Amino acid sequence: MTGIINEQQSTTPEFPPKLGTINFKQAVFLQSASALTNAPLDTGSEVAFAGRSNAGKSSAINTLTGNRKLARTSRTPGRTQLINFFALSEQQRLVDLPGYGYAKVPLKMKREWNKHMEAYLQRRQSLRGLVLLMDVRHPLTDQDEQMVRWAASATMPVHVLLTKADKLKRGPAKNTLLSVRARLLEFGDTTSVQLFSSLKGDGLKELETLLRAWLTDASVFDEAADSDD
Ligand code: GDP
Repeated sequence: MTGIINEQQSTTPEFPPKLGTINFKQAVFLQSASALTNAPLDTGSEVAFAGRSNAGKSSAINTLTGNRKLARTSRTPGRTQLINFFALSEQQRLVDLPGYGYAKVPLKMKREWNKHMEAYLQRRQSLRGLVLLMDVRHPLTDQDEQMVRWAASATMPVHVLLTKADKLKRGPAKNTLLSVRARLLEFGDTTSVQLFSSLKGDGLKELETLLRAWLTDASVFDEAADSDD
């Protein structure tokens, strides 16, 4: 696999943003990376999106950014197994992690993937949290739980999006929400969960509020200001 793929034309929005003023519609493709070693500089803040393939990750990123081109970028052949970075500003990024759960992927590749994901979750200093997408009808697969375990062991906050919520009636959707919330608590108290539908836009505000809080973690910008003195 190749290293960095730079997008020549991308222009990154201004930094620093004011608290709560992040405009997700400004996201631009920054670069792809095959491993942590060729990821963008590890400064500022980023939030990563992960999930089993077909969980609705591209649709959710589309809905959030209002930009179909971004998710298409991630689907370009050869990039599906790469980590894709999108810039919201000079120091704030959204990160699209490779989907997992492909039945036909050889074991060797699965092991490689595990190695990269574990390293990314445990060593990436700028990572503020993980958004983990699960189809509301099939939540918490073994690999989903593995992701939660890795994040918990790195004291990384995890926010679960139960996607395609429009596929269930309100009652069953609520029951799933409650049972996933209870299960997640067994992994630690830095977990949260919500229902989400890209189709209807349900849950978008809740997701945006959480992402803004993670990405504008005041302590990070205080550190940046301190180092300017
Ligand atoms: P990814 O592989 O995780 O990126 O998943 P996609 O975003 O490509 O979605 C997989 C399939 O689920 C596609 O057929 C989408 O149209 C469908 N899908 C995604 N989000 C929703 C949703 O909110 N509601 C419904 N009904 N279908 C969805």
